[in-house]
Amino acid sequence: MKLTRLVCPFLCLLLLSGCQRESLTENKDPKREVGVTRQDLNYKGTYLESISYPDLDIKKMDDAIQKTIKKYHDKFVKDVRNYKEERKAEFNIGYESYLKSNRYVSVKLTIYQSIYQQNEYIETFVYDRDKDSLVTLYDIFDEDKITQLADKVTSYFKERFPDECNTNRFRSFTSPVEENYNRFVLKKDRIVFYFPQGTLFDESATYESGYQDLEDAVSLENESVPTYVPYEDILNEPVKNIDPKKPMVALTFDDGPSKRYTAAILDALKEYNASATFFVLGSNANNAPELLQRMVLEGNEIGNHTFSHKQLTTLSKENIEEEIVATQESIYDITHKYPNVIRPPYGSKNDTVMECAKGKKLVTWTLDTRDWHDRNAKVIVERVLKEVKDGDIILMHDLYASTAQAASILIPKLQEEGYQLVTVSDLYTYHPKYQK
Ligand code: ZN
Repeated sequence: MKLTRLVCPFLCLLLLSGCQRESLTENKDPKREVGVTRQDLNYKGTYLESISYPDLDIKKMDDAIQKTIKKYHDKFVKDVRNYKEERKAEFNIGYESYLKSNRYVSVKLTIYQSIYQQNEYIETFVYDRDKDSLVTLYDIFDEDKITQLADKVTSYFKERFPDECNTNRFRSFTSPVEENYNRFVLKKDRIVFYFPQGTLFDESATYESGYQDLEDAVSLENESVPTYVPYEDILNEPVKNIDPKKPMVALTFDDGPSKRYTAAILDALKEYNASATFFVLGSNANNAPELLQRMVLEGNEIGNHTFSHKQLTTLSKENIEEEIVATQESIYDITHKYPNVIRPPYGSKNDTVMECAKGKKLVTWTLDTRDWHDRNAKVIVERVLKEVKDGDIILMHDLYASTAQAASILIPKLQEEGYQLVTVSDLYTYHPKYQK
C-alpha cells in the first residue's frame, strides 16, 4: 500500500517524460525486498540441491543471475561426477535482494557446495533502473575513492581482528583494486561489501558503511529505513476435537510457504476442518507473514525446516544452531509462537543435529509422496491412498501446483476413509503409536 503511494507521483512524471519503468515485485521481507522467489529442489543419486533465486522481471539482471547460477551449477555437476561417499554431496544457493531509492536493485547470491570440502562463494549484482544497466564499482567510485575505501576497510578489520590481519593474504585482498571490492549491494542507507571465504580470512567477512561516511565517494544518499512492523498477537486459535481411539494421520508440507500454492492448501484444510503441519524455511517465512499467521489461526502447526535448507549433517555445530535459531526467531516474530517440531532438510540428522534441536522433536516421515518427482496430482493421490496407514506422517511440498491439487483431493478422501487429519504435534500427543 505504502509503496503505491510513494511510487505514483514519480510514475506520472516518468510517463510524461516518455520514460517508463517496469514495476517491481516488492516484499516485506527485509532481506528479500524485491523479486519473486524461484525455488528448485532436486534429489539426485549422489547429491542434493536446493536453489533459490529471485525473478526480478528485469531482463539484464535475470539473465546475469541465471547465467551465474548455471556456471556454478555446471561446475558442481562436473566436480561431483566421481563422488561416491555415503554422505550425499550438496549444492545450495540462497539470495538476498535490496531496493534503494526505487532506482537501484541489488542481489546477493550465496553459493554453497559440499563435495569433499565445503565451499561458499558470493556473487552480487547491482542494477540501475534509470540507466537500464548493471552497476560496477567504477560507476560509483573512482580510483582515488577506491583507495580511500581500501584504507577504511583495512583499519576496520585491523581494529577488530589484529592477529588475523597480519597476513599476505589480507594485504593482497584489501589492496585498492577493483576486483577486491566488486562484491557489494546498495541498501537504503548503506553500502555493504562482501569478502568471501578464503579472501581476507578463512571465513567470509562483510564491511558496511553509511553513504555519508564514504566522504562523497558515492553520490547516493541515505534513505530512512522502514521498520519491520510487528504483528498483533494471535488469539482465538480453534479448539480441536481429536478422538484418540480413531485413526489419524499428519499431512506435512515442506519448503514453503509459497505465495503461489500454500493458500490453496490452506483453503482445502479449512473447508474440511482439517489440520496439517507446515515445515517452513526461515528464508521464506518473512516473505509471507500473512500465510504463517493464517496457518496458526486456522489450527495448523508451523514447524522449523531450517533457514536455508542445507544438509545439517555437513555443518558445524555452530552453523546448525544458527540455521535452527534464526528460523525459530523468524517464525516467532510473525506468529508469537516458537515451533515445537523441526524437520531437518533431506531428513538428514546425526547426534550433533539432535543436540542442537535442544529438546524439540526432530520429525521425518513415514510416507513419502514423492511429489517433487512426479508433479502429477493423480499419481500422488493414488500413491497415498494405496500406502496410507494409521499414524502416518505424510511428506509433501507446498511448492508445486500438482501438490496443491493433490492435497485438495486427498483431504476429503482421507477423511472419508476414516482418518482424522491432525498436526504432527497432535499425532505425537494422541496417537498410541507415539506414546512411549
Ligand atoms: Zn525440504
